[in-house]
Amino acid sequence: MKESSISKIIGGTEEERKEAEKLFGNAFREQRMFKSIEHEKTPDELKLLLAVDNLTSEIAKNYGAKESASVLPDNVHIVDKEILKKLFLDEFKMEAKKNLSGFFSMRSQAVFVIEGQNINELLYLVAHEMYHFKGYGSFQVKKSPEGEARYAQRRGGWGIVMPKRKQNAFQDMDEAVTDMLTAKTISGIVDQVDNIGISKEIADEIKNKYQEDPEAAYYLGYVFEKERLWDLLTEIYRKNKDRFENIDDVFDLFAKTIFTGKLINVARLIEKTFGKGSFRKIGEDGLPKTETEKEIDKELEDMEKEVN
Ligand SMILES: [Zn+2]
Repeated sequence: MKESSISKIIGGTEEERKEAEKLFGNAFREQRMFKSIEHEKTPDELKLLLAVDNLTSEIAKNYGAKESASVLPDNVHIVDKEILKKLFLDEFKMEAKKNLSGFFSMRSQAVFVIEGQNINELLYLVAHEMYHFKGYGSFQVKKSPEGEARYAQRRGGWGIVMPKRKQNAFQDMDEAVTDMLTAKTISGIVDQVDNIGISKEIADEIKNKYQEDPEAAYYLGYVFEKERLWDLLTEIYRKNKDRFENIDDVFDLFAKTIFTGKLINVARLIEKTFGKGSFRKIGEDGLPKTETEKEIDKELEDMEKEVN
């Protein structure tokens, strides 16, 4: 098991990289500093977190994760919104834009969830954030003007930090793939929810939601991003039928990247399918619009022409 979620430290001297590893290892273990601000988890919540940790680790392994630090309930904090806002202004601002109620802080080696969610929201948020936690992550050692070592995040799953830009490259790809894995995980939890030791009442609350609508997990977050990704996967499959048996086979390759951090296989496939420069374009400009989005654009355009 890894000491922290960090897969790689780059730059700096060997000594500085070792120091950074130690620092993140300590952050991973020392979660007590959040004790005073977090809501104490109920026994049901604790059991659910353990089940989600197990299942996400298993799925991560199937997609090529070599080793991933187990995300202990100690590394998940349920905290009042206003306190979180104050403590993590930058990270919070980024996530608030996406209208989410939880985030993974690589620096703190912790998942934070806003207090007051029901058990199904908690399940979704924790499963989603655990994939960010277990995915590939790297930091770069940089020097402050005074010569002190500083650490800047470089990668998180698919995402590549672009220092002078608001958005990371492949940010939407990272969320889309993460959220598809999340939906898979929720179905897995629904299947085993009677056998993880949680109370019948909570187990029923989880089962009922998904019995009513088995697709519900898909619609919990990042629907646009997932639809764009699905369109892309479909198009790749259509043009590479000699190589893939079905669309899920193509998805496997994209999911593996989250855990291995390796972009090269998907980069080659996208360049071969869509032409030179297309991989970088998707990274910088985001996933291409879906056919439905394009149709809507066209309708609006036609309407504008008519009006003017
Ligand atoms: Zn996310």
